[in-house]
Amino acid sequence: MSPELTETLAAGLTALGLSPAPAALDQLGRYCDLLLEKNQVMNLTAVTEPAQVVRRHFLDSAALLPTRALQGKAVVDVGTGAGFPGLVLAILDPSAHITLLDSQGKRLDWLAEVVGELGLDNVTILQGRAEEVGLDKEQRERYDTAVSRAVAALPVLAELCLPLVKPGGLFLAMKSNKTDEEIEAAAPIIQTLGGEPPFVLDYRLPGSETYQRIVTVLKARPTPPGYPRRWSKIKNG
Ligand code: SAM
Repeated sequence: MSPELTETLAAGLTALGLSPAPAALDQLGRYCDLLLEKNQVMNLTAVTEPAQVVRRHFLDSAALLPTRALQGKAVVDVGTGAGFPGLVLAILDPSAHITLLDSQGKRLDWLAEVVGELGLDNVTILQGRAEEVGLDKEQRERYDTAVSRAVAALPVLAELCLPLVKPGGLFLAMKSNKTDEEIEAAAPIIQTLGGEPPFVLDYRLPGSETYQRIVTVLKARPTPPGYPRRWSKIKNG
C-alpha cells in the first residue's frame, strides 16, 4: 500500500476515534496487498482499488471497535469471507481473540496464510456452516461477541449468530442504514433465541457520505434446544 494511502487509512481510523499502532498500519497495508494479489486468481472481493479496500473494507470493519464490545473478548466473525470484519479487528485490537468462521475452505486456507504472514497470534480459523457449528457442544454459547457483515438478512443472521454467544454476550450485525424492515422482521426470532430487542447505531463511513449501521443485540437468556434449526427451515422463516 502506498504511503499516501496509509495516511488516508490512519486519518480514517483517527476519525473513528482509534489510535492505531504503526505496526498495525503496516499489517493492514500488507493485508491489502495480499488481498488484491490473490483476488486476481480467487474470488475474494468485488473491490479492486486499494483506496476502496481501505474505505469499504478496513474502515468499515474498524467501525466496530469504538463499541468496546471486543476488547479482551472471545469474538466469532460469522461468514468472514476474505476476513471482514474479523481480520481487521484482530489486527487493530490484539487483546481480542477472533475466530474467523466460514463455510468456504479455500477462503479460509488463504486467510490462514495471511494470518501466518502477518504474525498474528490472536486468530483461530474455523470451517463450517454456522447453523451446524451452533449445535456443536464445543462451540455453542462459547463466545462473548458474534459479529457479521454481508452474510444474510437479520432474521436469518440472528439464528446463525446468537446460538454461538454466551448469555450476557453481544451479537453485532453490520448493516446499511436502510434496514428498518429487516430489523422489525427479526424481532420474534431474536426473542426466541434469547436476545433482547436490538438497538441501532448509525455512523458515517470516514471519507464518504455513506451511512452504515451496527445492530446490537444483548443475549439475555440461553438459546433453547432445537436452535439453530436446519438451513432449509431457517431460510424459510
Ligand atoms: N463478511 C465478509 C464481508 O463482509 O466481506 C464476507 C461476505 S460474503 C458476501 C458472505 C460469506 O458468508 C461467504 O464467504 C460465505 O461462504 C459465508 N457464509 C454464508 N452462509 C454461511 C453459513 N451458513 N455459515 C458459514 N458461512 C457462511
